[in-house]
Amino acid sequence: PFDVLVVGGGPAGAAAAVYAARKGIRTGVASERFGGQVLDTMAIENFISVKETEGPKMAMALEEHVKSYDVDILNLQRASKLVPAGADGLTTVQFANGGQLKAKSVIIATGARWREMNVPGETEYRGRGVAYCPHCDGPLFKGKKVAVIGGGNSGVEAAIDLAGIVAHVTLLEFGESMRADAVLQNKLRSLPNVTIIMQAQTTEVLGNGEKVTGLVYTDRASGQSHELQLDGIFVQIGLVPNTDWLKDSGVNLSRFGEIEINARGETSLPGVFAAGDATTVPYKQIIIAMGAGATAALSAFDRLIRN
Ligand code: FAD
Repeated sequence: PFDVLVVGGGPAGAAAAVYAARKGIRTGVASERFGGQVLDTMAIENFISVKETEGPKMAMALEEHVKSYDVDILNLQRASKLVPAGADGLTTVQFANGGQLKAKSVIIATGARWREMNVPGETEYRGRGVAYCPHCDGPLFKGKKVAVIGGGNSGVEAAIDLAGIVAHVTLLEFGESMRADAVLQNKLRSLPNVTIIMQAQTTEVLGNGEKVTGLVYTDRASGQSHELQLDGIFVQIGLVPNTDWLKDSGVNLSRFGEIEINARGETSLPGVFAAGDATTVPYKQIIIAMGAGATAALSAFDRLIRN
């Protein structure tokens, strides 16, 4: 069995693996796709001390750093179930391919994915105008026209944030009212370069083959179709944690499906820790996920030397 088994190979999992391995304990990382969301990212400009890099480059650097230690890396492994430790003190992780691994401590770092609109053009122009993270990609649209899809807290926060950077923001809300907190809505309405469109269902992302040029939406009240000219589209309709496989495992999840952790990265199950976008940690960012991975690994080590 492993001393520490990390499930997930994104920034959180990689950081956890390096911190665990540096304690000289038997460490493994099992993941579906080493690199995680970073692989889908173009420019990364907020990883402090690295002024600018690209996602695939950072993903490769993550893997190289982990590989420089004695860590078992198991790729293409999709965890399907977690079985809490019994009398032997070992937690079991089962995989979709039928295999299973046992460990004294497990660190869950399975991350999250942005909910997509599922309309034509969205996938095609992802990273070429279609964006999901205003903290990450907002500055790339300086002085340009963008839309934000979604009027929940994250959509309205994104629109306020972007309004300070870009030339103009159009927020499209599907429903008859926005679900965001009233203070945020008031702030948004006070901004001169923001237009809000209610009952708007986005039906298509438009592009010129290279990048986004606009979108098409249906006014749900009138049934009429309209076109907007844009340089960018920020989709803010939810972040879905990859935690389906933990249902009924005894690991407590929030109502959004995020793994509940404390400041030490401990979950509700002894010996099971978690880090990164899969958890209740506020703000989902690379630098935050890495810090959380380090925290979880140090907590796991602390527990090992006491048991
Ligand atoms: P992830 O990166 O999501 O990694 C999860 C890992 O778990 C992956 O290896 C995955 O394959 C694996 N996994 C998932 N489910 C299972 C399973 N059942 N079994 C086994 N393995 C599984 N952040 C920034 O700080 N700056 C940026 O510029 C930036 N730009 C972004 C751009 C885009 C397009 C996106 C999508 C995100 C961006 N982010 C950015 C956010 C950042 O990528 C995440 O906060 C970060 O990757 C979270 O790290 P993580 O390790 O928690 O999860």
